Amino acid sequence: MAAASAGIMADSIGPAPGLVSPLATPEEEAQVAAASAEDRAIRPKSLADYIGQEDVKRELDIALRAARMRGEPLDHVLIYGPPGLGKTTLSSIIAHELSVQFHATSGPAIEKKGDAAALLTSLSPKDILFIDEIHRLSPVIEEFLYPAMEDYKIDIMIGEGPSARSVPLSLKPFTMIGATTHAGKLTSPLRARFGIILQLQFYTPQELELIVKRDAEKLAVPIDNAGAAEIAARARGTPRIAIRLLKRVRDYAQVVGTGTITEEIASECLQMHRIDADGCDERDRGYLRCIINDFNGGPVGIDSLAASLGDERDTLENVVEPYLIQQGLVQRTAAGRVASRKAYGKFGAEWPGREG
Ligand code: ADP
Repeated sequence: MAAASAGIMADSIGPAPGLVSPLATPEEEAQVAAASAEDRAIRPKSLADYIGQEDVKRELDIALRAARMRGEPLDHVLIYGPPGLGKTTLSSIIAHELSVQFHATSGPAIEKKGDAAALLTSLSPKDILFIDEIHRLSPVIEEFLYPAMEDYKIDIMIGEGPSARSVPLSLKPFTMIGATTHAGKLTSPLRARFGIILQLQFYTPQELELIVKRDAEKLAVPIDNAGAAEIAARARGTPRIAIRLLKRVRDYAQVVGTGTITEEIASECLQMHRIDADGCDERDRGYLRCIINDFNGGPVGIDSLAASLGDERDTLENVVEPYLIQQGLVQRTAAGRVASRKAYGKFGAEWPGREG
């Protein structure tokens, strides 16, 4: 941690490791992979169950109805937005709404053309092929997928060496759903092949409160409205974090309280985990302190910031910054990152008085 030269001191107690990170923990990934009873109970299954994202749901609802009326597969869909906002969930809901199979993979998992061909030829008509982190497909695979997306055709190589030849193969009409945290990282030819492009937004505290209450009910955890609101307020606009916090507060309520989640119990538990009222953890505060203390409030380039924090640039851009920017604590300017007046206020520090 960088020294606090401008008088904004680091927290004296250690960080809460990853409790408010929007990325899935290995434990959460295992729950999803194993389709654990808890994960299945919580994950919304229909569009009506999927809380918030009203604009996206409206657009999707029309597209789904039109596809059903025409008896055609849904156009290819690109869903983008920060991690944990429900891209995978929404994709599986689409499959459910269309009564077709959901096949999930990810950009980095498709290493060879053979992997892609095996996936594509295993699809039944109108099935959904979900590719998470689609911006991480290799260029070779990406090109291989273009004719599959456009004409439901691929070229496969038969034989080896000089006698190898390319044979066209027809596929069943299918729908590809690509998910990415960074639509800007997609090549334009790939992006152009998606007919429907949906951007997920951070959830409002009210929407998150609804998710917390509904999930508490599914987990049979007693919770009052103020308890749910307290968890929602600190969940950084992200359902994955809201659910994770709910589970930690559930444990705390059982061990320290009477089992019921109240505002007091939720607040005590989250304070213990060093998550502040803005939903920031030690990593966020470290990031803000670094701009303020070490770079005079900015502007500072992302690479200098990453080097100073000892963090990956990608993690800062995809995991840490989106929420801090949305909260107005940081501005991304052409010259670099700038800490806002609100960020100075958060630490009770005097703002040097310039806008970013
Ligand atoms: P992403 O694919 O964007 O990283 P996920 O689809 O894995 O996010 O969602 C993370 C968790 O949040 C899941 O457990 C899911 O049940 C929950 N979730 C996401 N969106 C919603 C929503 N709109 N309503 C209720 N729960 C949601």
